[in-house]
Amino acid sequence: MKSYQGKGVYGAIAIGKISLLNKPEAAVKRVRVDDTDGEKSRFEQAKALSLSQLQEIYDKALKEVGEANAAIFEIHQMMLDDEDYNESINNIIETQSVNAEYAVAVTADNFAEMFSSMDDAYMKARAADVRDISNRIISNLTGETSKGNFSDEKVIICASDMAPSETVSLDKDRVLAFVTAHGSSNSHTAILARNMNIPAVIGAGDNFLNDIQDGCKAIVDGFTGEIFVEPDDGTCKKYLEKQRADEEKKRLLQELRGKENITLDGRKINIYANIGSVGDIGKVLANDAGGIGLFRSEFLYLENSDFPTEEQQFTAYKKVLESMAGKKVIIRTLDIGADKRCDYFNLKKEENPALGYRAIRICLTRPDIFRTQLRALYRASVYGSLGIMFPMITSVSEVEKILGICDAVKSELKAEGIEYSEKTELGIMIETPAAAVISDKLAPMVDFFSVGTNDLIQYTLACDRQNPDIEQFVDNHHEAVLRLIEMSTENAHRHGAWIGICGELGADTDLTERFLRMGIDELSVSPSFVLKVRDAVRSIDLSK
Ligand code: PEP
Ligand code: MG
Repeated sequence: MKSYQGKGVYGAIAIGKISLLNKPEAAVKRVRVDDTDGEKSRFEQAKALSLSQLQEIYDKALKEVGEANAAIFEIHQMMLDDEDYNESINNIIETQSVNAEYAVAVTADNFAEMFSSMDDAYMKARAADVRDISNRIISNLTGETSKGNFSDEKVIICASDMAPSETVSLDKDRVLAFVTAHGSSNSHTAILARNMNIPAVIGAGDNFLNDIQDGCKAIVDGFTGEIFVEPDDGTCKKYLEKQRADEEKKRLLQELRGKENITLDGRKINIYANIGSVGDIGKVLANDAGGIGLFRSEFLYLENSDFPTEEQQFTAYKKVLESMAGKKVIIRTLDIGADKRCDYFNLKKEENPALGYRAIRICLTRPDIFRTQLRALYRASVYGSLGIMFPMITSVSEVEKILGICDAVKSELKAEGIEYSEKTELGIMIETPAAAVISDKLAPMVDFFSVGTNDLIQYTLACDRQNPDIEQFVDNHHEAVLRLIEMSTENAHRHGAWIGICGELGADTDLTERFLRMGIDELSVSPSFVLKVRDAVRSIDLSK
């Protein structure tokens, strides 16, 4: 038996046989051609086929992982149509009299290198995307495709790395788990695996890949990131038991649907869900969340190639509110900037984008964008119970300005005879240490606070959340972070506001009791964690 360590991406256990995902031969031959027009039209045909394949993948992803996660395949289609990309391929064919495969491969290398050399983490990640689309065109030109040795048996797919399109194309009925030798936990592939509920480990290393063969028996522990190849009987027995216990736990959690979020001594708390798009609502309802505590509205902007109009936004917000049938829906105004880049915003390159021009700072300096979103939100407010929340707040004057703009938007709508709900709640995110420290001043101005622990941790501990090299210095349970949350809770309650947590820490059940003791009113977590947190709440006794 040999064991390997990677990073667990989705917590579940798989035991089965390995199937290596063989990619088509990466080295593309340079062939001289006389008929360059013929080569260009071969490229056009392969591109058209690739576009229709990507549309199919998008449709599949939309069903399986929701709109926000499927969006990457729309981006791939746009990249395929990119003028510079196409011009480069046609120029290489024309000027060098070479085959289309070669022109695509050279263009892919050039573009990937250009993206990799960029400082911005989001742009860096585009290198993998340009390789993904280019490999697809080359496969379509040569007629070769990626193939694993699938039989009727379900298998553990192993690969050097997996592109998002390969991940989402996996037939869930034939895949027990997947393991990659490379890749990072922030990659689209990892995010997709989490949403597809497939046990997965990434970054298992080159040794793992060199040692394994098709048909080897393996155990994948998606919780710890461990992989055992040709496990001995004792290990098999242990993991069969762990797998059984995990499945039983997941089954038992389903029985909590319809039950209250109440502690043993009778304290109730709201457990809501976080979403990125209208398509995620199915998961919110399936997991019995009491509302939506964070709708990251920036995905509407990221999915579009231009600013979404008031009407487009209104339609999306109305749909979410109607689907939730009167349950609370908190929509965060756009949080663009830092790692969430959007071409048409034309944001300048910054040395420290996480500390830069992002979120509310864009809204307050681009009132045209902000007012359009607020008009759409207020118009939608009559279709349910809406809360509007503002990200990256650091000062009282920002909140004064926001409230002034909200009042102006409401007056405008009134003058136009357009209805909105006066019951719409306004809240701010506590995700900077500054906001937590002056929460006594901010609380009287709003209806609620929502703690964004992902950013609060990075700003409090001075640890860039995008940087995998400093993970050892990031202590999510750092007392400084917890004290800032506690201070904000006391100040919220002192001034009649309620407070929730919508960052990832809200789903950390080691902290649920501490949050309840602080007096946190709401926890908003990924839909698949709602029942797990409900389970934790129901086992706590605050009277002890
Ligand atoms: C947070 O910072 O905790 C948060 C919820 O916002 P995001 O992760 O979108 O920055
Ligand atoms: Mg944040």
